[in-house]
Amino acid sequence: MYYIGVDLGGTGIKVGLLDEAYHIVQQASAPTLAERPAEEIVADMAKLCKEVIDRQGITAADVHSIGIGTPGIVSRKEGVILRSSNLPTFENVAVREIFKKYLDLEVYLENDANCAALGEARCGAAKGDDNVLVMTLGTGIGGGLLINGELYSGSFFAAGEIGHHVVNWHETEKCGCGRKGCWEQYASARALVGQAQEAARKSPNSQLMTLVQDGNLENMNAKVVFEAAEAGDKVAQDVLDNYFKAVARGITNLINIMQPTSVVIGGGMSAQGEKVSGPIRNYIQDEMYGSLKLQTQIKTAELGNEAGIIGAALLGLN
Ligand SMILES: [Zn+2]
Repeated sequence: MYYIGVDLGGTGIKVGLLDEAYHIVQQASAPTLAERPAEEIVADMAKLCKEVIDRQGITAADVHSIGIGTPGIVSRKEGVILRSSNLPTFENVAVREIFKKYLDLEVYLENDANCAALGEARCGAAKGDDNVLVMTLGTGIGGGLLINGELYSGSFFAAGEIGHHVVNWHETEKCGCGRKGCWEQYASARALVGQAQEAARKSPNSQLMTLVQDGNLENMNAKVVFEAAEAGDKVAQDVLDNYFKAVARGITNLINIMQPTSVVIGGGMSAQGEKVSGPIRNYIQDEMYGSLKLQTQIKTAELGNEAGIIGAALLGLN
């Protein structure tokens, strides 16, 4: 039996065919061209699904189900995308129903961050763990929750917005969500870049300035901060330490609420592996409730960009 996962994004549609061991054996992709009518985009998704089936030399009857991960808010039960800021023509679109016109297979829908969480929890870093928080440190902070082995999407399909719990009541700048002082404003990869730029301006002799491309702070990224710190630059090390503290404080809040078996850190930052999870783990231990020993495992994601496709493909089994 095979499984198909679709990663529907604002710029591209990626489709993967998984075998029984949940390995991707065929892939196909196409641009989303998101301004088009939703029906056309769904038709293209079905076309890509047929493509991977044909290429593998199997038929639709060999496929258990198709799962679609999409940005935005999804009614999983109804198979409807309610709305998505990255897919402007998808407002109350009955994707499951439209899809069936092109390919008669069971279709499941879920938010893309939740799909990535499911992928990591079933086949990646948190394999075998029951209660899992998977977070993405990227431009923002995304999250997906598994409770007792099941995806938890909340009563109204938008649970897991972990980046938007307020950690600083005195912040004056607004977060993208409209509140002020959200965790994301201090602990996202974008926040790290901002903190590094500020530190480099204050300490122009720092290696942050030497290592950034063309000496232009606009080119600052997380990799530069790690490189400077590794080269022994104290300014960069302080930036990283403060950043890890900010990440750790938010995770500790979430551990106190949820007490998961594991927390998986994903997104671009996870490429740094233990260099990221190690210090974060130590700072969380410092903040644990009543100085309890930290039992939750802090891990870095293993599936990278494939987590979304793999998780989507597993939706029919969840
Ligand atoms: Zn916010």
